[in-house]
Amino acid sequence: MAVTVAFAEARSYEREELRAALRKVFAPQLEESGGVSGRSVLIKPNLLAWKKDDDPTCVNPAFIVETARLFLEAGACRVAVMENPAVRSAQAIIADMGIARELEQMGVTFANFADYRDCRLAENAAFRNAEIAAERFDFDFVANLAKVKTHGMMTLTLAVKNLFGFISGGERLAWHLKVRRDFSLFADFLLDLYVEIRPQFNFLDGVVAMEGNGPGSGTPVECHFVAGSSDALALDAATAPLLGVNDLLTVTRGKARGLLEDFVCTGDIPQLAPLLRPDPPKPLSQWGLNLPPGLRELMRDRLLARPELDTSRCIGCGLCAKMCPPQSLKIVDGRPKFNLDECIRCCCCQEHCPKGAIRFRANLFLRALETLRVFFGRLLR
Ligand code: SF4
Ligand code: SF4
Repeated sequence: MAVTVAFAEARSYEREELRAALRKVFAPQLEESGGVSGRSVLIKPNLLAWKKDDDPTCVNPAFIVETARLFLEAGACRVAVMENPAVRSAQAIIADMGIARELEQMGVTFANFADYRDCRLAENAAFRNAEIAAERFDFDFVANLAKVKTHGMMTLTLAVKNLFGFISGGERLAWHLKVRRDFSLFADFLLDLYVEIRPQFNFLDGVVAMEGNGPGSGTPVECHFVAGSSDALALDAATAPLLGVNDLLTVTRGKARGLLEDFVCTGDIPQLAPLLRPDPPKPLSQWGLNLPPGLRELMRDRLLARPELDTSRCIGCGLCAKMCPPQSLKIVDGRPKFNLDECIRCCCCQEHCPKGAIRFRANLFLRALETLRVFFGRLLR
């Protein structure tokens, strides 16, 4: 039977309105899961780094609280919010968001993932093993709360990408090193996690989304929707085209691997303009898949966008160098210096820069292509 992908309009994070919208996308998931009464639920929100009210880098605090409330109202016996943000702890971010007390009063705990278990992945997985947060296996259900954001490396971060947070910080860098510039291989690893973790509940916060230099320094864009599905990949496959992304690698690889279930979309399906992407697309990471490996690598190196520093924004904090998996980025005289031969284009520096001082830029041809894509996309809406 086809899984349901439900959409609902929410024009703001005002609690009553948000709760009503979340209920609409929760109901089909609850039915497909068989109910959560007397069961435990682990909520995994995307918490990158909270900066201010309505900051689109994270799932909105009201969204986290109201989702937890849905599970409690549905009879869950234990609800916990857990995440492993790269720089600060989940507790610190939740405290900054101003929802710590409210969660405590509801009896909802919150913490960082603390323990990791080496898991043997499925027979048909792209990789053999992965160290996954052990807490995942302590709960009956996982609720995956993703933000609708652009993403330098993967174009969008939706439900499947959010599962990368089940890997420890150090291992995340190691995985970037393992896949290097092969973005389709990275998509394959995310799909392996999707198969292994199999979150039974998946929600997208698209009330205020992010476009441009995402996932850490993009621009808020009001998209006014929430979405949900019991299947993370189906949710992404239904949502990405609405955001102007028909080539999301996790979806194309998921289809190629036979992982994408049939789905039906219900509710208020949003009519949206395409999101402004972080930088011109990286077409050869995908189009080049059928080329011989040597040629593919050569084309990719020529056409992949490169990191560039905006010196007027940089404060010399050094976080980008700390997050660079191959350590190809060094701080020299108080400013980042890129070694593009060693750079694997993982976008970790761009993602974590607190000042949005790093952007990826491609050559003129790809920039023109992206401008045309956005222009005609907006015109056709
Ligand atoms: S993280 Fe950003 S602000 Fe800090 S040194 Fe790097 S580029 Fe500059
Ligand atoms: S410089 Fe940036 S994009 Fe290149 S490898 Fe380091 S973190 Fe990744």
